[in-house]
Amino acid sequence: MSEPPPRSLRLRLDREALAGNWRALDRLSGSARAGAAVKADAYGIGVANAVPVLREAGCETFYVAHWSEVTDLLEYAAPEQVVVLHGPIGPDDVAFARETGVRPVINSLYQARLWLDGGGGRCDMMVDTGINRLGLPPGDVGDALVGRLEIETLMSHLASADEDSAQNEAQRRLFEDLAQQMPHRRRSLANSAGIALGRGYAFDITRPGLSLYGGVPRPELAGDIRQVAHPQAAVLQLRDLSPGDSVGYNATYTAERKMRAATVSLGYADGFLRCWSGKGALRFGEAVLPLLGLVSMDMVVVDCRAAPDLREGDWLDIPYDLPQAADRSGLSQYELLTTLGRRFQRSA
Ligand SMILES: *Cc1c(COP(=O)(O)O)cnc(C)c1O
Repeated sequence: MSEPPPRSLRLRLDREALAGNWRALDRLSGSARAGAAVKADAYGIGVANAVPVLREAGCETFYVAHWSEVTDLLEYAAPEQVVVLHGPIGPDDVAFARETGVRPVINSLYQARLWLDGGGGRCDMMVDTGINRLGLPPGDVGDALVGRLEIETLMSHLASADEDSAQNEAQRRLFEDLAQQMPHRRRSLANSAGIALGRGYAFDITRPGLSLYGGVPRPELAGDIRQVAHPQAAVLQLRDLSPGDSVGYNATYTAERKMRAATVSLGYADGFLRCWSGKGALRFGEAVLPLLGLVSMDMVVVDCRAAPDLREGDWLDIPYDLPQAADRSGLSQYELLTTLGRRFQRSA
């Protein structure tokens, strides 16, 4: 069969920005080294695109959430560089970890027992210091099972690092206390926002995700972090609207005057969710083309009066400066990245 034609959605990845963001976060981590959270297919960027760039920049530790994410990652990273945050929930996970040589994070006594019963070996350990989500409760730290683990990196996770919350310092202190009760080789606490809280939060290795890919969870990072994902969509059709013509499902927009509209190959199935309806705008060069009506599954319609020279087949930019796009859409910067769909042609 012949090759499919080029896609009508593309996601240009700025590799230099990605590498620069990792280097900035590594530098801001002080004497700690930065790793990289590459779960959820590198936050939608694509493991195949992101990991080689991050390795080249100097990154040596990669975090995924699921065991199902390991095989892809092992194409680009060595087993000893891979850490699985969710940890084992059954014996098959333990067997897979031991076969592949990747490290599980042990999050509970249940997981500690599974791991040890399956033969054990080096692992990481997550202790809960207040997020109450995943991680060993402080009361379980003294358990004999914990004493039998070979803990490489002891970690915890901040709940409110993107805010000036007293919880940050409380978690940092509890982490230090708990760390004294468990043998381990290295410590890790900070995600992207945690790195911006200062050197006291960096310990030995940091775990940025969002900011690698252009997210700015705290204003302190704004000057150092650059946009990585630049999505674009093609114009499928141009049409002239007359006063009284309505656009899209449920006719939520009605033209008041004669105008030109463009139908664009971008919809909620591509991660351009319905919350953009009536709020978003695409761009053609400097021209701003506001959305008309509701976002459909595969299409949006934009007002293209600002771009009289627009043609069918032209490419429109989807504004994806993450802090701005989050403000405008009401989505989080994380959601904006991780929902970018599979129909985008990802390229660097
Ligand atoms: C996802 C995740 C990170 C990365 O967090 P960001 O806010 O994206 O920087 C770090 N640590 C753990 C445990 C995570 O689950």
